Amino acid sequence: MKKMSKFFSEKFASLEAYTPGEQPKDMKYIKLNTNESPFAPSPSVIKAAEEEAGRLQLYSDPELTPLVAKLAELYGVDKENVIATNGSDEVLNFAFMAFSDDSHPIIFPDITYGFYPVFANLSGIPYEEIPLKEDFTVDYRDYVGKGKNIVIANPNAPTGLALTLSEIEEIVRTNPDNVVIIDEAYVDFGGESAIPLTKKYDNLLVTGTFSKSRSLAGARLGFGIASKEIIRDLNTIRYSTNPYNVNRMTMMAGCAALDDNDYYMQNCKTVMENRAYTKSRLQALGFSVLDSKANFLFAKSPDISGEELYLSLKSRGILIRHFKKERIKDYNRITIGTRAEMDAFLSATENILKEKKQ
Ligand code: PMP
Repeated sequence: MKKMSKFFSEKFASLEAYTPGEQPKDMKYIKLNTNESPFAPSPSVIKAAEEEAGRLQLYSDPELTPLVAKLAELYGVDKENVIATNGSDEVLNFAFMAFSDDSHPIIFPDITYGFYPVFANLSGIPYEEIPLKEDFTVDYRDYVGKGKNIVIANPNAPTGLALTLSEIEEIVRTNPDNVVIIDEAYVDFGGESAIPLTKKYDNLLVTGTFSKSRSLAGARLGFGIASKEIIRDLNTIRYSTNPYNVNRMTMMAGCAALDDNDYYMQNCKTVMENRAYTKSRLQALGFSVLDSKANFLFAKSPDISGEELYLSLKSRGILIRHFKKERIKDYNRITIGTRAEMDAFLSATENILKEKKQ
């Protein structure tokens, strides 16, 4: 029996809330468990947020004018094609609310971002989980001409595997009467963005975040890019829930981050180099490692269970993410940090494996 007050609505009685990655405070951990950036925001972002703090007595601009303009410029679309939100979780939730219902169910892979079924359940939306192939890839043909709303993380999480742009286009093209949401939280680490396709297809919504590649996970900033009609609908939901969804400091931090785009894209390159380095060292330790295009690796060892490795690393002050779901319980998801963090993770892993063999 779940704990709830006697007042809690029956409609939420069976709601399983999303479980965020743990943030334990008992000691200082190397955090490789929630796919944050290991790099601090650039100095101009910190300055912009500090300056804006002095104006916090005022509500934020509900139109988020400068931020939306900068996103539109960066991605080569019009302002009316952009919405900014409190993390990309919010634009995803808005999209579930806006476009899916009993007669418009939504489908997504069985192994993917754990929030999708939660969004669906929260809004009472029927959903179907499409199994990934044996090798954990998404088979795009499973989504062709489905006549249902679709959400796909590309690159996918926690696998890191990506579909090509032409596969995404085939999904979007063959479902013209349904909304296809492509969640590009991790696209800056080697994926191909579907944003250019939003000009060609009025049923495509691409979502993005400042949490991973732009070092602003704690500021909560996400965005969506789509046809003007889709964005208008999302804004109807936004204005019906929280018009001031992005606070002042975050908006100015986001603007400064876009002005410093080169700094962040350089950081992404570093993460990609550290990813390649970590992958080859893990392979040398016997791990199988999926071909990630994201800021994490998904890996399993033949010598230790996913849970045991996770727990042993945790006791040594290193956090990685373990999922209990049957199909992936042998794996762990390891966020890519700095080279020093990855070296600490690799040598701890090597020691754990050695101790196990003794
Ligand atoms: N999509 C995916 C696939 C994610 O892994 C995450 C991060 N947990 C998000 C969206 C949401 O991130 P945020 O709300 O921080 O933008």
